Amino acid sequence: MSMQYCQGPKCHTYQTQDRIRGPKGAKHYQTRRRSSFYYLGGNACSLNCERDWFEKFGEQALNHFGRIVEPIKLTEENAWYKDYDYDWQSGTKSNWRWENHLNNQRIPMTKEQYDNPNYTRPRRSTVVVVEATNSKGEVIQKDTLHF
Ligand SMILES: [Zn+2]
Repeated sequence: MSMQYCQGPKCHTYQTQDRIRGPKGAKHYQTRRRSSFYYLGGNACSLNCERDWFEKFGEQALNHFGRIVEPIKLTEENAWYKDYDYDWQSGTKSNWRWENHLNNQRIPMTKEQYDNPNYTRPRRSTVVVVEATNSKGEVIQKDTLHF
């Protein structure tokens, strides 16, 4: 990981010991440099620097990338989330399910489905069983169709 500078425009004005550089008589504070940062998506050394960046550039960034000018909607079909019951006494999990707070529906699922990151929303399917019977009413053929 290469070293990078904090992108906070006022980073050098925060007078901490670790920002001091230069020989005696020519000392200065300077922007922090690290291999990684925790703020501003990995670009600022502190919450202060993150705020400073947004104060100076946030408005321009919003104008540049486009503003939200109408509400973004999370509809019922996309409002499912996975949940399960947890018993604190025994530490056991149970009752894995989909929940939808918009329509208050619950759909059971297995633990395997819960753990599957590709299983991101429930899909409603219809199973139709088609039976062919003979003259005595005995089933001679049975097909299961999934829709
Ligand atoms: Zn900084």
